[in-house]
Amino acid sequence: MPTLDHGSVPASEQLFARAKAVTPGGVNSPVRAFNAVGGTPRFIREAHGAWLTDVDGNRYADLICSWGPMLLGHAHPEVQAAVQAAVARGTSYGTPTEPEVELAEEIVSRTPVEEVRFVSSGTEATMSAIRLARGFTGREVVIKFAGCYHGHVDALLASAGSGLATFAVPGTPGVPASSTELTVVLPYNDRAAVEAAFAEYGDRVACLITEAAPGNMGVVPPEEGFNGFLAEICRRHGALFISDEVMTGFRATREGAWGLDGKHEGWTPDLMTFGKVMGGGFPAAAFGGRAEIMQRLSPVGPVYQAGTLSGNPIATTAGLATLRLATDEVYTHIANAAETVKAAASQALTQAGVPHVVQNAGTMFSVFFTDAPATDFAGASTTDVAAYAAFFHAMLARGVYLPPSAFEAWFLSSAHDEEAVGTILAALPEAARAAAQASTAVAR
Ligand SMILES: *Cc1c(COP(=O)(O)O)cnc(C)c1O
Repeated sequence: MPTLDHGSVPASEQLFARAKAVTPGGVNSPVRAFNAVGGTPRFIREAHGAWLTDVDGNRYADLICSWGPMLLGHAHPEVQAAVQAAVARGTSYGTPTEPEVELAEEIVSRTPVEEVRFVSSGTEATMSAIRLARGFTGREVVIKFAGCYHGHVDALLASAGSGLATFAVPGTPGVPASSTELTVVLPYNDRAAVEAAFAEYGDRVACLITEAAPGNMGVVPPEEGFNGFLAEICRRHGALFISDEVMTGFRATREGAWGLDGKHEGWTPDLMTFGKVMGGGFPAAAFGGRAEIMQRLSPVGPVYQAGTLSGNPIATTAGLATLRLATDEVYTHIANAAETVKAAASQALTQAGVPHVVQNAGTMFSVFFTDAPATDFAGASTTDVAAYAAFFHAMLARGVYLPPSAFEAWFLSSAHDEEAVGTILAALPEAARAAAQASTAVAR
């Protein structure tokens, strides 16, 4: 089966060496590189259902699911058939197409947005949503939370300035100070900090953007009522509330993270962003919201936004097939599988004496190697990364591919059946013991 002549050096290692010669770090997105856990990333040759197969022929039960998109598992036959039929008709025309309309209708029917515009990545979605919020309000200040990731938008790659409610500083070289000087970065779940920022800048705030249920510092759910509080304070100050559901949309629940709070509490975001699941494994993302706001976009309104491959017929076909197959049963299955894995991970870690906290938002969850719940980035940052790295490698050696970073959600799919879940459960006790040995915690 292996297609490479690799002798004694594993094919993944050979490919990684070649990749590093032609691509920075050998990867096209940093977290794939294993820098946080050490070792060589596995190069995946193919994937079916819950299983990844690497170029050496090793199989892994997948807990990454492409960082969320593969809600139905890999190579789902019906999604594949839809995509193959679409490819046979041509792959891009630069004209409007039917699948775009159908996917937009599907998204509008499942979320509180009235209109959507498609783009090709989550980064583009949040960047465009912020531009639209600024164009709509005629204001410039953007508020975000530390630990929330919204893609690599210059204005959002920002770290808190010194002092409460001061403007941010660039979070990475290459971002000019002028790009973050209108961004305010606050601690997550901190209502007093939000109130202070609005007291200081209220009439200058164009928008507040937040992950609907943060998953990019590991899963740190909003405290009860926090999103509703954000929606209300934005409304009171004439700012737009942007709920970033690129990760949680069509994933945390059928209606995304909004289905966990807003739906019952009776508020809706002004703008939302989507990606990941809605592309069904292809590059597709979207931003949407109230018609009154969306109508400010070109070509009907003055706020410019565009994209050569936006609404690409293959990507929208894959997304549409995925969402149409994502029934209540799919979410129930994933929720049940998640419960089983969470309970077993917690039990194994408890038996090995490893301090840990399991946190979830709908079907998404994370295991923090800490002894106290994480409510913000500072809390999440106390996770024991050495223990996680040992845990990760022990799981990998037993055929389970976890996210190669302690600050990520674990993702399951409707294809995670008894065999896949069984493989994960069987690996946990040894991995927990490996974590215990590597743990930097004093009490064990
Ligand atoms: C993944 C993600 C993004 C960025 O999406 P890309 O497609 O990687 O650009 C934005 N926001 C959130 C919440 C995400 O999880």
